[in-house]
Amino acid sequence: MTLQNGLPVFSLTQDKILRGNKAYKTVTTPGQSLLKRQLALLNNLTGVLLLVHLVAGFNLPVVAETASNFEHMRTTSNEQTQARQLFIEALLLLRENKAFAARQILERAAELEPDNAAIHCNLGLAYQNSGNVTQAMHEFANALKLKPNMPEATLNTAGCYQSIGKTQEAIEWYKKYVHNNPHAPETKQVKDIIKALEISLGKPGSDPSCADYFDSITGEGTYRWPSTSLPIKVFIDPAEDVEAFRESFHQALLESFDAWMLATQNRLAYVLVQEKSQANIICEWTSNPQEVSEANTQSERGMAHIYAKDGNIRHATVKILTRPMLDQGSVSDDDIKKACLHELGHVLGLQGHSTNNHDVMFFTVDTSTVWPVLSKRDKATIARLYEKYPKLADPTPPVVPPQ
Ligand SMILES: [Zn+2]
Repeated sequence: MTLQNGLPVFSLTQDKILRGNKAYKTVTTPGQSLLKRQLALLNNLTGVLLLVHLVAGFNLPVVAETASNFEHMRTTSNEQTQARQLFIEALLLLRENKAFAARQILERAAELEPDNAAIHCNLGLAYQNSGNVTQAMHEFANALKLKPNMPEATLNTAGCYQSIGKTQEAIEWYKKYVHNNPHAPETKQVKDIIKALEISLGKPGSDPSCADYFDSITGEGTYRWPSTSLPIKVFIDPAEDVEAFRESFHQALLESFDAWMLATQNRLAYVLVQEKSQANIICEWTSNPQEVSEANTQSERGMAHIYAKDGNIRHATVKILTRPMLDQGSVSDDDIKKACLHELGHVLGLQGHSTNNHDVMFFTVDTSTVWPVLSKRDKATIARLYEKYPKLADPTPPVVPPQ
């Protein structure tokens, strides 16, 4: 894994592109999602990687002790053999991001073999991936009780603290990992995370209990659609040949536009246009994960770009992935809605992320704590961004008839 500028990969990239008058800025926001082992925590525009570690088997050096336990088990207990089978079954499910199913199996395995740290560690991960951070931390603690300093459980505990915005605690746990595993392949990365977290600590807007996260989304400049561009002209690609696309996705995208407009108390408005060339915002769908990833970023659900000059957004593009990143399954309408809300938040000017895992603009929407609706803080943040704009008395009907 490569690192750039001392920061971990999966960071929010901000490139200046030189075009014509050299004054345009493009801000690229990779879509957010969980990738089995790794999450991007984009905190206050500081790219911070959150590591999530799965115990992949019993032959890893780190769980060598457990491996020998299992060797022993084969000849001793039917229950322990069963626990091993369940562990393997759950591992496959975790790899497919089917955390809920994995959780049920690992709970059974933990009953059969309560003293196995690897089972507790992966059970913790299953909880973490299904949004229950409290229970996840409880299971990582169980693993650490059985196997003090277990590297995966240590990293995952750090990740949990990071995901709930307890940065100081996250730093302490990451440091503990570095101290105990100075030569592990991840150590360099973990050191970079510590550095990035230390920088982000105390930055304005990082407190997840504030009424809004305005400071987090304006840390590197404030971007707005100028009032002269209203209503914003939106083109939505019909996605005729896009694999896994469903008509309900189109609806989810429209509802997401409506939700953000309403949150500005109708200070923003949009119209749909039939021609791409007329549009300010171009929305497209893709079934190819590569199209929502950029070099040195890892993203899954979508990608948003804005092109701005002097803080005024001139043009924006959004691309949403129609299928899961890691398998051939399908995504739910709720998942698509969350991705649409998140990416549209970026193109409407929210250039950063919330540290509160109940906000749609949290760094990942792949957690059950994020619902497919705007939170109070999401609404308050965009309302504040456009508070000086006049309310549009009669919002324009959302469709411009073809000419
Ligand atoms: Zn984002």
